[in-house]
Amino acid sequence: MAQAIVDSPETRVLRPELDRRYPMVVRGEGVWLEESSGRRYLDAMSGGSMAATLGYGRSDLIEVARRQARQLAYVHNERLTNPLQEQLARELVDVAPAGFTRVRFVTGGAEANELAIRLARSYHVERGEPSRWQIISQAQAYHGPTLETLALTGRSGLHGPLGPYLAPHLHVPPSTRWLDPTGEAALEALDHALEQAGPENVAAFFCEAISAAALPAYTPPRRFWEGLEERRREHGFLVCFDEVVTGVGRTGEWFAANATPLTPDLVATAKGLGAGYTAIGAVLVRDHVYGAFAEGSRRFTLGHTWDGAPLPCAVGIAVLDVLRSEGLIERVRERGRLLLEELAEALRGIDLVGEVRGHGFLLGVSYVDPRDPDSFLPPELRVAGRIDDAALERGLVVLSTQPTRDGMAGDQSLFAPAFTATDADLDEMVSRFSATVSQVAAEVERELSGVSVRERG
Ligand code: PMP
Repeated sequence: MAQAIVDSPETRVLRPELDRRYPMVVRGEGVWLEESSGRRYLDAMSGGSMAATLGYGRSDLIEVARRQARQLAYVHNERLTNPLQEQLARELVDVAPAGFTRVRFVTGGAEANELAIRLARSYHVERGEPSRWQIISQAQAYHGPTLETLALTGRSGLHGPLGPYLAPHLHVPPSTRWLDPTGEAALEALDHALEQAGPENVAAFFCEAISAAALPAYTPPRRFWEGLEERRREHGFLVCFDEVVTGVGRTGEWFAANATPLTPDLVATAKGLGAGYTAIGAVLVRDHVYGAFAEGSRRFTLGHTWDGAPLPCAVGIAVLDVLRSEGLIERVRERGRLLLEELAEALRGIDLVGEVRGHGFLLGVSYVDPRDPDSFLPPELRVAGRIDDAALERGLVVLSTQPTRDGMAGDQSLFAPAFTATDADLDEMVSRFSATVSQVAAEVERELSGVSVRERG
């Protein structure tokens, strides 16, 4: 039997953190993961990355993959196509906001965002505007670890030593409740960035309609979307949504774009499309963007080995089938509202908790200094990391993020269960999570004040 924990000196895997102890997970069923020792973890994060949206061990998806692998697992789409990618493209267009007419498949999230960048840039070149290359994006964002997607985030802590390779894209601060509740400051920053780049050089504005890890469940206020629309019309750049997490049901919509006041020109999606059963991503293209190629060079080449292959596309079709036949988009929307209330209620009275946000099954908790609810916590307290460690001790998987150096975001946790989690599963997740937060809050308050924690009602 595999060891439950393998320490760094014993492994041949180059791990993300050499000093972290990683549980060895060998099995999954529903929303439960099992370690090789038999210890079980309740997964409130859909596989940790929000990809496993339909839970583990689904025999219907496994059977589809098995059958397709036997018939035709793989063929490259540069010279050949296959009915699975044709069908999945049609089905995605059917559930996307009106006006999307073409889809290109890739293998994952960062690839989808890279493709959206290539499409936006090529669109302008096709239309005779080769000066347009600059991208403006939100500073508090994560779009992937490739060199171009990494350049889209303004979180310098994530850039590490890679700065010299990163394109100098421009960033605007998010309009959070703390920084800019109306969205006007972000619009002002956008105007400043447009001026700095020269609007004739701007190819695209890139953002998550509803943020995942960077600012869990945050979405800009309506005024920001309206202002972005006005500027898109005036200056002619494209708007790209990173729906790597939010696409394919996570927020209780097929895409977050279906419920956003502004319709983007490009949507990049990934995780939930394969539901953790296959690696697949896609970019959905509005008709006028496609038109630039159709009326221009009639080419959009360069692709990856697995783009549009039959096996991942067959799984993608089966995932959409499950979402429709089990009414999961509606369930996520309706149950998500209740889950937000339940989570907020369970965390009520904990001074460490600043805000609880949620859209469907994408929920976020931000933590504040219990001595001053308008301040984030001192980073050296490592509250986010402690929450994750304490949750794991209680057999719960959640994912938290540390405060950012620019002071725009403090410690935060993501709470993003599989759409198929039962009411009992969700109750248990909320209960383990609130117990975890209470425990860490008590420790933090003790450390901050040196006195015992107050009684709470
Ligand atoms: N965008 C967002 C919003 C993400 O959360 C992620 C992955 N966490 C990515 C892009 C990158 O996707 P991938 O890891 O599949 O390349």
